[in-house]
Amino acid sequence: MIKNKIWLSPPHMGGSEQKYIQEAFDTNWIAPVGANIDIFEANLENYLGSGQVAALSSGTAAIHMGLILLGVQAGDEVICQSMTFSASANPILYLGATPVFIDSEIDTWNLCPIALEEAIIDRIAKGVSPKAIIAVTLYGVPYKVEEIRTIASKYNIPILEDSAEALGSSYKGKRCGTFGDVSTLSFNGSKIITTSGGGAIVTKTKELKEKAIFLATQAKEKAPHYQHCEVGYNYRMSNVLAGIGRGQMEVIDQHVKSRREMHEFYVDLFQNIPGVSVFSVPNTDYFANYWLSTILVDDTITNGITNEKIRIILGEENIESRPLWKPMHLQPIYCSYPYYGSAIAESLFNKGLCLPSGSSLSEEDRFRIKSVLVNLFNP
Ligand SMILES: *Cc1c(COP(=O)(O)O)cnc(C)c1O
Repeated sequence: MIKNKIWLSPPHMGGSEQKYIQEAFDTNWIAPVGANIDIFEANLENYLGSGQVAALSSGTAAIHMGLILLGVQAGDEVICQSMTFSASANPILYLGATPVFIDSEIDTWNLCPIALEEAIIDRIAKGVSPKAIIAVTLYGVPYKVEEIRTIASKYNIPILEDSAEALGSSYKGKRCGTFGDVSTLSFNGSKIITTSGGGAIVTKTKELKEKAIFLATQAKEKAPHYQHCEVGYNYRMSNVLAGIGRGQMEVIDQHVKSRREMHEFYVDLFQNIPGVSVFSVPNTDYFANYWLSTILVDDTITNGITNEKIRIILGEENIESRPLWKPMHLQPIYCSYPYYGSAIAESLFNKGLCLPSGSSLSEEDRFRIKSVLVNLFNP
């Protein structure tokens, strides 16, 4: 008997999404402009508590746009967390700039402040001051916000906060998506809320938001004919898809709660299994949406059961799990670029696994996951 697939992080509709899509049809705003976009942006601004939001076609487009707003140009160097999804780094290459990769630290798995400062000092000594720092909030756990900001300020380098995975997370009561000089969000199918595909840029000022929208809609100057003084992009979100986003904003609190319950479920499950630790925030300053629940497996303690073995056994039961993000400095496309750090990200990658974490997982799904894991560790 083939059991239903349990996905790692499937889309989870709230119920009113189609009503807002219908509104777009009823008003014929089947376009990258319309009320759904305006309201979705306002909802996000309200939720974040500070910042100005422009809805774009993807998180990747938002990072690209963010780097443009920060003035990154061909030949510049941009610092980027190595352990992340490739979409954090690819826009550096779109702009003809050079990525400089930084290791993770063990508490949040994000940018290591020590390696970051070492890199900045070394790049400056080599004659180039980095133009921006891309700081990621992996799996919904905030990076060391204060340490990273202190270093960025000391060398006067702006931060692009890639919070694609962290809508709903916060640090000292302030929401992720508000810590960068510009910040970015993603609403791809697997993220905490989705518009099927989509993203947003969060800016500090209304002027910058308007600049982002201007560039994202082909940089059309004010004139009756098509007049262009800058390179434009076609990066605006569709008003149809923003309708999905509106519906999703009504259930975001529930999504965060459910993801956190999945994390709690794994903490309980593994607490008596030596050698497996569930990744959790370092202290109460950090509040994680736990977009994905992840574990580290020490196979010297688990009698040789590795992360890969767990992945395969789950897969045999039609349960999806995934290795952690493979660090960029180990990727064929990026391994020739500068890298600073020791081997923290690499060791996390070698030992880690992402487990099913969707906000729509049922009690029965959890029972299936638990049975497989308990059988594996206590046969
Ligand atoms: C998903 C993701 C992105 C890209 O977002 P898209 O909307 O898929 O383009 C960027 N960075 C990180 C860390 C992500 O997880």
